[in-house]
Amino acid sequence: CGVVGIWGAPDAAALAALGLHALQHRGQEAAGIVTHDGERFWQHKGLGLVGDVFSDARMMGTLKGKSAIGHNRYATTGGTLLRNVQPLYADFEFGGLAVAHNGNLTNAATLRRALVKRGCLFQSTTDTEVFVHLIAISLYATVLERLVDAAKQVKGAYSVVALTPDFLIGLRDPLGVRPLILGRVADGGWMLASETCALDIVGAEFVRNVEPGEMVIIDDEGIRSLRPFGKTSPRFCVFEYIYFARPDSILEDHSVYEARKQIGVELARESGVEADVIVPVPDSGVPSAMGYAAESGIPFEMGIIRNHYVGRTFIEPTDQIRNLGVRMKHSANAPALRGKRVVLVDDSIVRGTTSRKIVDMVRAAGATEVHMRISSPPTRHPCFYGIDTPEESQLLAATHSVAQMAEAIGVDSLAFISFDGLYRALGHDDRADAEGRYCDACFTGDYPIELVDKEGHLVS
Ligand code: 5GP
Ligand code: SF4
Ligand code: MG
Repeated sequence: CGVVGIWGAPDAAALAALGLHALQHRGQEAAGIVTHDGERFWQHKGLGLVGDVFSDARMMGTLKGKSAIGHNRYATTGGTLLRNVQPLYADFEFGGLAVAHNGNLTNAATLRRALVKRGCLFQSTTDTEVFVHLIAISLYATVLERLVDAAKQVKGAYSVVALTPDFLIGLRDPLGVRPLILGRVADGGWMLASETCALDIVGAEFVRNVEPGEMVIIDDEGIRSLRPFGKTSPRFCVFEYIYFARPDSILEDHSVYEARKQIGVELARESGVEADVIVPVPDSGVPSAMGYAAESGIPFEMGIIRNHYVGRTFIEPTDQIRNLGVRMKHSANAPALRGKRVVLVDDSIVRGTTSRKIVDMVRAAGATEVHMRISSPPTRHPCFYGIDTPEESQLLAATHSVAQMAEAIGVDSLAFISFDGLYRALGHDDRADAEGRYCDACFTGDYPIELVDKEGHLVS
């Protein structure tokens, strides 16, 4: 998901909508904005793309005020229902509170059972609502204390934005698995966003990352910071660099684009092959293919063209649609492929559906050899921290060796980036040098945050 927050800026709703538009890649299922105008809250939410949900000028006019939070939904927990669309808003004795969340709680189901037993009535199936109930039943007096109280009970990955009549709040989980960025809008207002590309679209200035385990509180006096968890050691999601984030974003002080290009360079060094053209699977494979081509000296060609009017195939729900989506999305540019030995570069193989289709298509267009290079290690485990990977049994790499995968997708050769190569591309000496600095659980199975719901531990 993508989140934004605005404080102290005229037209806060429009800034939030633009920010969400820049974060559209983080979730295409639904979008919502809640504003506050000094007296009351206003909200609008809907299913679909940001541009469709916020297209009506009259409706935008009703989202009054100088503060706002917004959310793009990418379902990891909870179905595609309007009542699951964030931000969630609730009335409290201290005033109202709106909350939006990127990530996934690993003890949401466990907490929810306990809350339901205590009489809490849930309206949605999202894990974000667990947060809201924990705030509601907290015995602390102020909203800030209650938020901290709630944060200490949840486990998992979360970058939260929250809005009250008095503050805009940004909160990152202790390991900082998902990003959250702080910026300033031109006329003195503040902005929070999942990625820097959301600041860029409205001309906001990057200030700094919200730190892992940090809660920032923004009001008319400025910004304060709390450290409810004390000192923590971060584990940023490495897959944000590989695939999820937009390439023009700077995350944790690294350019996503440079990281992807450099992975391509490392891939070419590790698993070069004689070929005539380097072809990305667009869009996600483009920067790594550029790096691969530059390092190998083999020409880069757009041998596959992507239709941009189809959403990310992965996010569409059923297998049938996903298969259909893949064909709708990519087509072969035959003149660039005919008679050529082709190296295809993509970011990941999940189920293998995309790769298999694309390889067939490239061969049908006349390629004489097809080699596949992947800018991530094999995806062998599901993500429980906010990226929607299928369960283990559906992951091609969980049940197949690399050689078996090559056969399954029909390529002449297949290679994935090594962990050393991946971490070198991110500026480390090797894998050991990056040890304990990132989450890479979907590749290693080393989950840095306890999977409470999955393992059925009791909450105390
Ligand atoms: P597959 O067809 O192997 O299941 O999916 C691989 C393709 O899905 C890659 O081209 C990758 O860019 C794309 N993809 C889209 N969303 C995701 C996601 O959330 N996780 C992963 N691992 N790949 C995704
Ligand atoms: Fe990112 Fe993978 Fe960790 Fe999920 S499991 S947070 S996708 S690195
Ligand atoms: Mg892709």
